[in-house]
Amino acid sequence: MEQSIENKLIKADQAFSEWKKVPFEERQILLRKAAEILKANSEKFGKIITTEMNKPISQSIAEVEKCALMLNYYADAENVLKPETVDSEYNYSEIHFIPKGVILGVMPWNFPFWQVLRFAVPAILSGNTVVLKHASICFGSGNAIEEVLLEAGFPVGVFQNLEIGHKDVKEVLEHKAIKGVSLTGSEKAGAEVASIAGKNIKKSLLELGGSDAFIVLNDADLDEAAKVGAKARLQNCGQTCVAAKRFIIEEQIEDEFLPKFIEEYKKFIPADPMNKETQISGMARPDLADDLENQFKKALENGAEIIIPLERISDTEFTPGLIRVKEGNPILQEELFGPLGMVMIAKDDAEALRFANDIPFGLSNSVWTKDKDRQLFFIENLESGTVNINRMTSSDPRFPFGGTKSSGYGTELSLIALKEFVTPKTIVGN
Ligand code: NAP
Repeated sequence: MEQSIENKLIKADQAFSEWKKVPFEERQILLRKAAEILKANSEKFGKIITTEMNKPISQSIAEVEKCALMLNYYADAENVLKPETVDSEYNYSEIHFIPKGVILGVMPWNFPFWQVLRFAVPAILSGNTVVLKHASICFGSGNAIEEVLLEAGFPVGVFQNLEIGHKDVKEVLEHKAIKGVSLTGSEKAGAEVASIAGKNIKKSLLELGGSDAFIVLNDADLDEAAKVGAKARLQNCGQTCVAAKRFIIEEQIEDEFLPKFIEEYKKFIPADPMNKETQISGMARPDLADDLENQFKKALENGAEIIIPLERISDTEFTPGLIRVKEGNPILQEELFGPLGMVMIAKDDAEALRFANDIPFGLSNSVWTKDKDRQLFFIENLESGTVNINRMTSSDPRFPFGGTKSSGYGTELSLIALKEFVTPKTIVGN
């Protein structure tokens, strides 16, 4: 490992020995200051995001503002890490929550500020320090976040950006200063990093891919479902883990819903990402666009039919595509991380549920129906970390976020995230 990187790990460890003693409420004051800095500079940071990964500027600015909202949520959060007393026959009968130490974050490019802060803020508020390995195209975002936290008054070493490639992650994770890792990214990266963590008996948290269903039943508000569905698939150029990727439509409303959906879908026309009116621009990297094109071909070779063709108009840009896919097509077992949606037609609720659950992933499904019993049926039976009723998925700091099956394990956001990187220490006796 390069000496400069090892020095940062040592610095993070040294910072931890002081940071863990800072009261929860004092840490919260710094979070509020950081939120102010983010909010006041959302345009500047938005430009960094758009320059690095091509997201339309209005969505980049909204991402920064949402980070400020999340920081304020934690700045106001109840201290759930106070020692707890357990009713027992002992004089000492307590649980203390002890931060683990330096936590490594391995983060993706699709929400370059949000993903990093979503992981780092609760970890730091719990008394840990953090080192970041950001996606290789997002080092500018990583450095900007480090600067914001320093300007807010967080001590040097509490958050540091490491400019390293993914090949260096193993050595960093194996270093004795690192006590845990949180990875947001692909299944492949998650499996590799978690196996290194496991071998070294270090805690891991994984937020991985998804192929969420957007189920539209015959009593739904079809105009609203069509409008929200197109946004749910195509926001951030389709590069969102919790994007709606499979549209499961009840047979009876196919003829009424599909034209509405297609009309909304076609409103997304790739344009200059720096223009504030732009809703969709290019993908983050040309090789990711190649991957999506190959998946499109694979889907067609296995019987998928084109509803709207996926047309490549530059190295990273597509006019968004939509395909009709039948059960058994192997593409259904893959995540489509770009502007290509899949439509499936289900004869009833039971079939819609079977289609929805028949994938390796389990992030966040969405169901559109006004009927309470039908809502309940899907709430109880969908295999995912979140179920949305008559809304698209968008994470909210107040609610836990995480997946099941190959979408990962562990919880981000909400008060639950504060307990991810702490050890409950039992104090008992007389
Ligand atoms: P990725 O290729 O897995 O990269 C994510 C991070 O992992 C990057 O920092 C990357 O570094 C690093 N990495 C890649 N391979 C690695 C390895 N073998 N060992 C250690 N680190 C490795 O994913 P991505 O393309 O950036 O992001 C898209 C994926 O993330 C999608 O599957 C998406 O669904 C998922 N995602 C999930 C969530 C969630 O909350 N569940 C949120 C957002 C995205 P380099 O850049 O240096 O390769």
